Amino acid sequence: MKIAILKESGAETRVAAIPETVTKYVALGASIAVEQGAGDKASISDADYEAAGATVGDRAAVLADADIILTVTGPDPATLGDAKRGALLLGALDPARRADDIAAYRAAGLDPLAMERLPRITRAQSMDILSSQSNLAGYKAVVDAAAAYGRAYPMMMTAAGTVSPAKLFVMGVGVAGLQAIATGRRLGAQVSATDVRSATREQIMSLGAKPIFVENVAGIEGEGQGGYAGEMSPEYQAAQAELVSSHIAKQDVVITTALIPGRPAPRLISDAQIATMRRGSVIVDLAAEAGGNVEGTAPGESVVRHGVTIIGAVQLARNLAADASALFARNLYNFLAAFWDQETGAPVLPEDDEIIKAIRAT
Ligand code: NAD
Repeated sequence: MKIAILKESGAETRVAAIPETVTKYVALGASIAVEQGAGDKASISDADYEAAGATVGDRAAVLADADIILTVTGPDPATLGDAKRGALLLGALDPARRADDIAAYRAAGLDPLAMERLPRITRAQSMDILSSQSNLAGYKAVVDAAAAYGRAYPMMMTAAGTVSPAKLFVMGVGVAGLQAIATGRRLGAQVSATDVRSATREQIMSLGAKPIFVENVAGIEGEGQGGYAGEMSPEYQAAQAELVSSHIAKQDVVITTALIPGRPAPRLISDAQIATMRRGSVIVDLAAEAGGNVEGTAPGESVVRHGVTIIGAVQLARNLAADASALFARNLYNFLAAFWDQETGAPVLPEDDEIIKAIRAT
C-alpha cells in the first residue's frame, strides 16, 4: 500500500499527515510519499517527514502507483493526472459545493471519500474532522475577538482603578460553541450562551456559563435528531429575537456558531440589534460561509457597523495550522486504521458499513 500526502493549494495551510501518523502508517506496513513542502505552513519540514519514514518528492512521483491519496480539501482534479485508477481519495471534499470536481475524480477512476460526511456516532468520533476542526475554530474565534476588542476580558483591580470583565455571549452550543464558552471562561470573561436544543442548557452550566433560553415557546427537546438543530417555527424565531434584543445590548463580545444541516445558517442578530451594542464591541460569526448568523456579515472580512466590529470567520482552524493538521491527520489515520486488514495490508471498506455509506461521495 502506498499512501500519498499532497501539498494543499490556495489559502489552505493544513496538511493531511504529520510525522506521528506517518510513523503509524509505516507500522501498518504502508509506504508513505509526501509532496515537497506539504507541511511548510504547518511548521513541518520535508526532513521531519523523512525522519518519520516517508519519502519526499514532486507531485508526479508522489502520486505514481499510490493506492490512497490523503488531502485536507479536495485537490483540483486537473492536478491528479498521475494518479492510479482505483485509488482512494480522502479529505474534506465538499461534495455539496464541488459536484463537478467529484464527477471528475470519478471519471479519473478515483474513489473519493468525503470525510466531513461521517455520521455522528460513537465509533466515528475519533475520525470526525468536523469536530476536531470546529473545536479549534471555537477557541480561535474567542482569541480573535480578544485581539479586535479594545478592552480586556478579565476583571482587573489595579491602583489606577478597576477594569470590568467583558461580557461574552455564545450563540449556538455545538462543538465550536462549547469550546468558545470554555475559552472565554479561561480568559476571565463573564460568559452566557444560548441554543435551541434543550440538552445544551446543562452543558452550558457545567462549563460555568449562564444559559439564556427562550422560555415561552418550546425549542428542540434533548439533543435533537442526530444532535442537530432544524429550522425553528416563526413563533420560536420571534421569541428568540425578543430574547436576543434584551440580552445583546449588554454584551461586549458575541460568538455565533449556529448551523442547520443542509440549510442556510439561521439569522440571529439583526442590524437594529447591533445598533444597541456598546461601541467597540466585537461579533465573530462562525457561520459566515453558510450565509451568516449576523446581518451584514461578509465571509473572510471584518466590517464595522454602528461602531461594532463583525468578523466573518472562515475556516478558522486554518489559522492554527500545526494543531489543526495534527488533529485532522489523526482523524484520517483513525479512519484508515479502523478499516485496515492486517493480512492483506490494505483497508477494506464494506459497502454496507454505516460509515462507508455516508462518506462515499459517488
Ligand atoms: P452545528 O455546527 O450543526 O450547529 C451548531 C449549534 O448551533 C448546534 O448546537 C445547534 O443546535 C445550534 N443552532 C442551530 N440553530 C440555532 C438557532 N436558531 N439558535 C441557536 N442555536 C442554534 O453543530 P455541531 O457542532 O456539529 O454539533 C452538533 C451535535 O453533534 C452536538 O450535539 C454535538 O455534541 C454532537 N456531536 C456528536 C459527535 C459524536 O457522537 N460522534 C461528534 C460531534 C458532535
